[in-house]
Amino acid sequence: MHQGKDRVICAYELNEGLIVDPGPTSCLEALLEGLGDTEPRALMLTHIHLDHAGAAGTLTARYPHLQVFVHQVGAPHLVDPSKLLTSASRLYGDAMDTLWGAVEPVPEDRIHVLKGGESVEGLLVAATPGHAYHHVAYLSEDGDAFVGDVAGVRVPPHEYTLAPTPPPEIDVEAWLDSLHTVTAWDPAALCLTHFGRVTDVEDQLHRARISLLDNADLARQEGEEAFIRDVEAASAAAVDEVAAERLRQAAPTDQLYMGLERYWRKRAERESAA
Ligand SMILES: [Zn+2]
Repeated sequence: MHQGKDRVICAYELNEGLIVDPGPTSCLEALLEGLGDTEPRALMLTHIHLDHAGAAGTLTARYPHLQVFVHQVGAPHLVDPSKLLTSASRLYGDAMDTLWGAVEPVPEDRIHVLKGGESVEGLLVAATPGHAYHHVAYLSEDGDAFVGDVAGVRVPPHEYTLAPTPPPEIDVEAWLDSLHTVTAWDPAALCLTHFGRVTDVEDQLHRARISLLDNADLARQEGEEAFIRDVEAASAAAVDEVAAERLRQAAPTDQLYMGLERYWRKRAERESAA
């Protein structure tokens, strides 16, 4: 439940108190209710964006034995969230607190850094950059792939999928490679943060790839206003209004544009410098 809405942000509980992406502090009540009597043992973070990991500090303060796994590039921003908060404030402004709640630092001695390629807590880890440089995905022995934002945003029961492309780290080529990485795992299911576990794995990875490529083209060819109009028209044609609202909450359309516009601009700057 995020801002009173279901099907926006998903946290997963595995065996023995392992949580993949606890979500933001603003959703803590729903998380604790879901946990019941289980004391969480470890947080397996796909990345540090606030909708995925905002509650990490609050939870480590609450549970003194709780460990946190995160990509090495994300780790310093959990210990000192000031840069992360500045970056997020640019996008969310005054709505920061309502949307995400408190963002507390995580003590450094609770953090275990990942690079991708290792195996931790019975999960295989892969580096899956593209949405964020420090994004990782986890594969369980049962074949569940916890893919964070890599395989897109989809509000059940609909199949329609959006690639979440907020600034500032979108890298389309890296993301396409990451989709290959997940494909190569040949998982039985994809566990999306936005939203839920889906078993049409190949189709879902395909939808995410197409959305990424289509929206990247659109952002290159059109201005913000036309981009927003076209993307929201496509969503409205594919899903009901209740689901469309949830898509916009998980992946605000103006942010989709901003992230892709920045990607193209930075790429052009690099090419002209070379
Ligand atoms: Zn994210």
